[in-house]
Amino acid sequence: MRTITCHCDHTFEADLPETADLDRSPELVSAIADGSFLSCRCPSCGANLHTDLDTLVTWPSRNMKLALVSEVSRLAVLSGHAEVPEFFDAVVGFAELADRVAVFAAGLDPLTVETLKFHLASKALDSMPTGKPVITFEGLDDQGSLRFHIHGLRAGEVAVSAIPRSLYDSVSSEIAANPDEEPQCCLRNGPYLSVQNLELEGGDHA
Ligand SMILES: [Zn+2]
Repeated sequence: MRTITCHCDHTFEADLPETADLDRSPELVSAIADGSFLSCRCPSCGANLHTDLDTLVTWPSRNMKLALVSEVSRLAVLSGHAEVPEFFDAVVGFAELADRVAVFAAGLDPLTVETLKFHLASKALDSMPTGKPVITFEGLDDQGSLRFHIHGLRAGEVAVSAIPRSLYDSVSSEIAANPDEEPQCCLRNGPYLSVQNLELEGGDHA
C-alpha cells in the first residue's frame, strides 16, 4: 500500500506495487504503455490519478532493471545524486519508464535509441532554435522502423519521426566501434542513461 494525496487534498492508501516483474506479470507491459500502471482512483472526489511513485520494474528475461524515480527528483538524478539500487538504471517520471520499457519490448538497445534521440533533437533545433525538444520512443511500425514523437517544438504540437531499422543498425555499429566518441560517450551519468544528460544547443548558438 502506498500513501497518495489527491489534488482535492484527500490522502488515502492505494494498492500500488513497489516492485513489478514483467515476466511474472506480462500484462503490465501494456499497462505501462497505456499509462494505467501506477494509476488509482481517489475515493473522495473520484479523480483518476496517474502517479510516478518510486518503483522498481524488472524484466529478467530481457535483462532489464529499471528504477522509476519520481519527476520531483529529476534535479537530483541529473546532478548525480540519484538513489538507485546497484545494477538498476534510473528513469525519471512515468513517460521515461514507458519509453524505456517500449525499447526493451522492441528488443532494442537503450544507448542506441538515446543516441538517435540526440540526432533527432539536434536536427529539430536546427530548424527551430528556440524549441525545447523532448523526444519519446513509441515503438516499431509495420515496416520495423523506429517511431519517435518530438514534443516541445511548437506549443501543443507533436511531430512524428520514423527512423529506418537500417539507420538504427548503422548507428549501433558506430557506437560499438567508437564508444568513447560523442554523443554516445556522454549519454550516461551514473545510473541515468538519457539524452537529457547532454546540453542541446540551438542552431543560433555560435
Ligand atoms: Zn480527490
